[in-house]
This record gives sequence, C-alpha cells and structure tokens, in this order.
Amino acid sequence: MYRTGHLGVAMALFAPVAHWLVTAGYPGLAVLTGAAALALAVVPDLDLSVPGLSHRGVTHSLAFALAAGACCGALAARGLPALGVAVPPAVSAFAFGFLLGFGSILGHLAADVITPMGVPFLWPASRRWSLGVTPSRDPVWNGGLFALGTASLGLSMGLALGAV
Ligand SMILES: [Zn+2]
Repeated sequence: MYRTGHLGVAMALFAPVAHWLVTAGYPGLAVLTGAAALALAVVPDLDLSVPGLSHRGVTHSLAFALAAGACCGALAARGLPALGVAVPPAVSAFAFGFLLGFGSILGHLAADVITPMGVPFLWPASRRWSLGVTPSRDPVWNGGLFALGTASLGLSMGLALGAV
C-alpha cells in the first residue's frame, strides 16, 4: 500500500493501545508510542531508497519484524527510564518496545499482503503471500484505510478522555 494506507492501518492498530494507556494514566507514553507507531509504519518501504535492497524483500519479512522488535525493545529498556517515562506494570519496558516494533512492522506487512505483489513473510525463502485484493496504488483503499485509522483513533481517544 501507499503511505496513507500504512498510516491508516497503524492508527487503527494503535487505537486500542492508546485507549489502554490513556485510561491507565500513561498519556505521555501514549503520545510517544503513537509517534513511534506512525514512524515505524513506513520503515519497511525505506527499501525503495536504500541501494542494494529489493523492494518488498527483507524489510517485509517476519525476520525483519523480529529484529525491529528487538531494537525497539532495547531502545525502550534504555530510553524510557532515561526520559522518566514509566510503562504499565503489566509489561517490562523491553517487552513494551518489542511489541511496538514487532507489531508495527506486522501491521505494515498486513497492509501489503492484500496487494497482488504480496510479501515474503519467510524471507530469505522466496515464496510470497498475497491475498490479491487490490493494487497498492488504489486511492479508494489507501484513503479508506486512512479514514478507518483516523476514525478508530478518534473514537478511542474520545472514549478514553470521556472515561478519565
Ligand atoms: Zn511495504
């Protein structure tokens, strides 16, 4: 999908997390997490501008999602305490960061798997998975996903702030 579609999927996936964080009393973490989720949502497509990487290769795989999770987990474990940002006691800072990174990349892959080009989940194996629903460039799908994400996040925040 295009950037708008990926951002829409990221917002839709982040919406319930945002609700949880805000209602649990972690609004600062919610803002940080939302910003990171939006940034991470488009990271796999950096392969379009990195020489030597083929588009929808390694950056569109489960291995990359795991690596992104590990990097985000390590960053969160060091960075959040340094910033004085607490995470809910149900998770460690590493686990929180891991889930953010892993989930964000999986969200990108989920948006791309509906296109005919598909994604190589098990890279370096060459098999690609595709649901063949719509081409990446389709403006209705990209705009629709963006609208879905915006509405989901808006509803989530409305409910959370109403409940606080
Ligand atoms: Zn992609």
